[in-house]
Amino acid sequence: MACMRLQFYMPATIEVSTLIESIFEKSGYASEICPYFRNSISCMEIYGAPFWLRILYPQNLLWRVPTNRREVFLTFDDGPIPGVTPLVLDILNRYNVKATFFCVGENVQKYPDVFSLLTSGGHAVGNHTFHHLKAWKTKRENYLSDVEHTDALVGSRLFRPPHGQLNRRVAVKLKRKYKIVMWSALTGDYNKNLDGEQCLALARNNTRPGAIIVFHDSLKARQRMEYALPLYIEYCLSEGYSFGILE
Ligand SMILES: [Zn+2]
Repeated sequence: MACMRLQFYMPATIEVSTLIESIFEKSGYASEICPYFRNSISCMEIYGAPFWLRILYPQNLLWRVPTNRREVFLTFDDGPIPGVTPLVLDILNRYNVKATFFCVGENVQKYPDVFSLLTSGGHAVGNHTFHHLKAWKTKRENYLSDVEHTDALVGSRLFRPPHGQLNRRVAVKLKRKYKIVMWSALTGDYNKNLDGEQCLALARNNTRPGAIIVFHDSLKARQRMEYALPLYIEYCLSEGYSFGILE
């Protein structure tokens, strides 16, 4: 069923097959009713946030900041990491840009000095779980306590689920306390099969008022991020965009 291979120009950070099961929360149900769908998109990665993904996910997640102003929101996941997060901050400072950092609790605990550079620099921080957990592979209670553990270190009302994985019941619980932030575009900077130019294009092609753009301050993403980030900032500035932080 090669014709079923959907040409979204977005690769499978999100394992869509698992996503479908997660939505119905009945393992096996979805795979019985749509094996072709499941097989054809299981290798797909999702860099943009297509309408069908937003519809399938729990409601009231933030995929874009509702604004008509030419403002984009840069976000960085998985830090703080020595040597990478400070590099991001250098680039941002060069253009006087503020951003939002979704921090892994374990890294905050290991590198408190790097974490404090974020808050002292006027950037926003958010919770990205303590162990960078996959919601679909973690018991609900464990997931929620991991988030709370991180809250004690990060102290933010913003939450972004690692790997974009979320299920309805966890989302309902988290929404009582947190704003759950998804994305308008992943740059794919963590993907070694992409180069910096492709990451830049993914960000640029998804730029519109209120867009939430995901980079990573991780060792894995460093090379591509370091290439794409300054060029992306320059692109946005040349198009009359400013940069906001999430709150
Ligand atoms: Zn992450």
